[in-house]
Amino acid sequence: GGDFNQKIDYVFKVVLIGDSAVGKSQLLARFARNEFSLESKATIGVEFQTKTLLIDHKTVKAQIWDTAGQERYRAVTSAYYRGAVGAMLVYDMTKRQSFDHMARWLEELRGHADKNIVIMLIGNKCDLGTLRAVPTEDAQEFAERENLYFMETSALEATNVESAFLTILTEIYRIIS
Ligand code: GDP
Ligand code: MG
Repeated sequence: GGDFNQKIDYVFKVVLIGDSAVGKSQLLARFARNEFSLESKATIGVEFQTKTLLIDHKTVKAQIWDTAGQERYRAVTSAYYRGAVGAMLVYDMTKRQSFDHMARWLEELRGHADKNIVIMLIGNKCDLGTLRAVPTEDAQEFAERENLYFMETSALEATNVESAFLTILTEIYRIIS
């Protein structure tokens, strides 16, 4: 059957964080609705979308939260992080600065979130390979040092988007179940 009256075994809250324009909203649109827009507008207020999937024969509702115009440092409120069991730290691989800010976002996340939160570093816009400003090895090194999962994605081409969300959700499931 469809979503209606479906028994939900788990609800996992996952937050998206990172600088403005790195592609957080489009990653979510791609994952939740298989949509993409080149003219994505900044939404007002906190928003989340859900997608229900099966992990290990259990029904898992992923509740993915997207910051909306709050990407300035320290502007994301603690309500945003509350109850999150996963976080995706997103940078734009064509914008070095968005990667350099990852340490700051991580620090803020760790200051607010549960200590067992599963964190994934995402280098988005890998379709723009010729404009790459962040070598894969730099990101890999950072991820290893900080104990994060890491993937390069393209919301535009749908590269690794499903895989990134599945990886983080499966890891959360593994920890919680
Ligand atoms: P947010 O501010 O982090 O939510 O970023 P958005 O999702 O609004 O995306 C910002 C801009 O980058 C928009 O013009 C998107 O269409 C574009 N964008 C997002 N993801 C990708 C991607 O994977 N590849 C390319 N080429 N553009 C993307
Ligand atoms: Mg957005």
